Amino acid sequence: MGFLTEEIAIDLGTANTLIIHNDKVVVNSPSIVAIDRTTNKIIAIGAEASMMHGKTHENIKTIRPLKDGVIADFNASEQMINTLIKSIPTLKRRFFTPSLRMVICIPSGITEVEMRAVKESAERVNGKEVYLIHEPMAAAIGIGIDIMQPKGNMIVDIGGGTTEIAVIALSGIVCDKSVKIAGDVFTNDIVNYMRSKHNLYVGERTAEKIKILIGSVIEDLENPPEDMSVQGRDLVTGKPKQVMVSYTEIAKAIDKSIIRIEEAIMEALSQTPPELAADIYNTGIYLAGGGALLRGLDIRLSRKTDLPVYIAEDPLQAVVRGTGITLKNLESYKNILIK
Ligand code: ADP
Ligand code: MG
Repeated sequence: MGFLTEEIAIDLGTANTLIIHNDKVVVNSPSIVAIDRTTNKIIAIGAEASMMHGKTHENIKTIRPLKDGVIADFNASEQMINTLIKSIPTLKRRFFTPSLRMVICIPSGITEVEMRAVKESAERVNGKEVYLIHEPMAAAIGIGIDIMQPKGNMIVDIGGGTTEIAVIALSGIVCDKSVKIAGDVFTNDIVNYMRSKHNLYVGERTAEKIKILIGSVIEDLENPPEDMSVQGRDLVTGKPKQVMVSYTEIAKAIDKSIIRIEEAIMEALSQTPPELAADIYNTGIYLAGGGALLRGLDIRLSRKTDLPVYIAEDPLQAVVRGTGITLKNLESYKNILIK
C-alpha cells in the first residue's frame, strides 16, 4: 500500500462509465462491448464499440452489459471494467497495474450477487480495497448536498436504463424507487414516433441524436431549438428520405414515458415520512443524469409537483463527482459505503 496505491472512482452507469483519477475525469465511455459471435472474443469496448452499434453484421454483436440496471452479461461487464481501468492514461504507462483503492458506484436495482460480481471483477484488476456506493447517494454528494444532515432531500437521476428516485437524510436512503423508464425508452419512443407519424424508419443512434439536439418535455419552451432535418428510410417506398422535425413533436413522442416518471416521483413523495416531506417542500427536487438535460424537464416537474426543481451542474458527471468525493473522504463516508 502507501505510495504504490492509486485511487480511482468509477461510475458504472447503464449508458456511460466514467472514471476519476487524481481529481480528473480520465475515462468517459459508453458502457458497451462488441463481441465476435464466432469466437466469442471481445473486439471493442466503449466509444469504438458504440460506433458499431446498429451497424453490425451477423458475426458481430454489441451488448450493453448493464442496460437495464442489472448485469445482463457478467463476462462482458468484467471485461469492460478491466479494459476501462487499464485505459486510464497514467496507469497505462506503467509496466504493471498498481494496487488500486476504488469506490464504484452501482445502479440501485443491482442484486447482492451482481454486487459481488462487480467487486470481484474490480479485485481481479488489482483492486486491493474496493467499496461500492449506491447511485442516489453518489448523485446527492456530487450535487453538493450535505447528506449527513437530518434534512430530507429528493434526488431524481435519469440515466440510460433506469430512473432512480430517492429521498436521502442522515446518510441513509429513506425512500428509493428504480423504474426502467429512462433515456433508452425515450430514444425508442422517438423511433416509434418517426415510424408512425413520418413513415420514416430511423435507427437508435439517429433517434438519440434527435433527443439530444431537440428533445423537450414541454411544448412551450422559452428558447426553443430550431427544427431538425432527419434522414432515414421511407417505410413505403424503401428509399432514403429526409423530414423536418420540431421539438414539440419530440415532447409528444416521449410524453407517455415522462408521465410514468412523474407518477413514480409522485408515488415516492407520497411514501415519504411527513417530517422529510416538509423538508422537501423547502429544498425541492434535484435532477441528475443525462435525462436531466431534456429541455423543460425542471419546469414540467415543478408544475406537476408544485416544488422547486433544480438541475445538477453538469448532470452527466454528478454521480462520478460524488463517487470521487467519497473516495477522497473515505473515513467520513465509511458508513454509507457497501464494503
Ligand atoms: P447512466 O448513468 O445510466 O449511464 P447517464 O446519466 O450517463 O446514464 O445518461 C445517459 C442517457 O442520457 C442516455 O440515454 C443519453 O441518450 C441521455 N442524454 C445524454 N445527453 C442528453 C441530452 N442533452 N438530452 C437528453 N438526453 C440526453
Ligand atoms: Mg448514472
